[in-house]
Amino acid sequence: MSMKIKYWGVRGSLPASPTPEQWALDIRQIFNGFFKAGHRSQDHVDGYLKGLGIPQLGGFGTATTTVEVTSEKGQLIVDGGSGIRNLSEQMMKGPAGRGQANIHIFLTHFHWDHLIGLPFFTPHFISGNRITYYAVQSDLEEMVRSLFRKPNFPVSFEALAADIRFVLLDPRKPILVDDFSVTPYQLDHPDPCWGFRVQHGERVYAHCVDTEGTRVTREHMALDLPLYQNADLMYFDAQYTLPELAEKSNWGHSAAQIGLDIAFRENIKYVLFAHHDPGANTQQIYELKRQTREYFDWKIKTAQNDGVTLPLVKWRFAYEGLEIELK
Ligand SMILES: [Zn+2]
Ligand SMILES: [Zn+2]
Repeated sequence: MSMKIKYWGVRGSLPASPTPEQWALDIRQIFNGFFKAGHRSQDHVDGYLKGLGIPQLGGFGTATTTVEVTSEKGQLIVDGGSGIRNLSEQMMKGPAGRGQANIHIFLTHFHWDHLIGLPFFTPHFISGNRITYYAVQSDLEEMVRSLFRKPNFPVSFEALAADIRFVLLDPRKPILVDDFSVTPYQLDHPDPCWGFRVQHGERVYAHCVDTEGTRVTREHMALDLPLYQNADLMYFDAQYTLPELAEKSNWGHSAAQIGLDIAFRENIKYVLFAHHDPGANTQQIYELKRQTREYFDWKIKTAQNDGVTLPLVKWRFAYEGLEIELK
């Protein structure tokens, strides 16, 4: 049994294309790297580019939150940010394009960056598809309907060809969908936002964006602590540096260091940091990564000095298109 999690959008707050100046800066970095590595010949260009990861070549991505979770038989979508458009294109090549899909979309909350792609999710327009929306918030149906309304969008909700349904989730109660069990837990966000603990067989994915991580102790997390405990993969909000987090109290976003503290304490095996700031360019996200590495090393060293063994925690900064398989 395995579960795959694909990130179609990892940007926060607003889709953010790099400016022409940023593209120029990124290209300059690639050229500098090529020559620094000692290459001089044009014949080495393809090999050098192949060796670079996606963030070095194309940045961390521009689209906002959309996550696809798949198993052998099932598929869930978390949030409908601008990333859902590319997912939609892929799905239209399968049963969704023939009106034979049964699609499940879980919404964490209704900030624009998590809804903005939904009118462009083409399976809505194909007769025969069934699309079920799930959320804890009682205004779920009204929120989705309002996305398809003139003058903001030309096609009304009533004119959509698919069979669209709404399911309100009970807080902290699991619901079975395909071969997944999904449980909503509350995150720390100015408007109520619910993270999801998605379980398939023995594997657990904890979706924890958007959150400020203001409740750090187990006592404060209280009823929402199970969201984090022993997760195989946690997707965590790391929009800010620690000083920015102090400045932007109540903005509802966190820093990677907060996520690492939770991961070490709650035995989380792998953490992906995301909800990248729309104003952060590739180099700034690499700087966040450097600060996170510094903090991670300091945690390990301090624990060693104190004679404490920390659990192994892997982490990285998520980029658009990243896919993780939990076996
Ligand atoms: Zn957001
Ligand atoms: Zn939000």
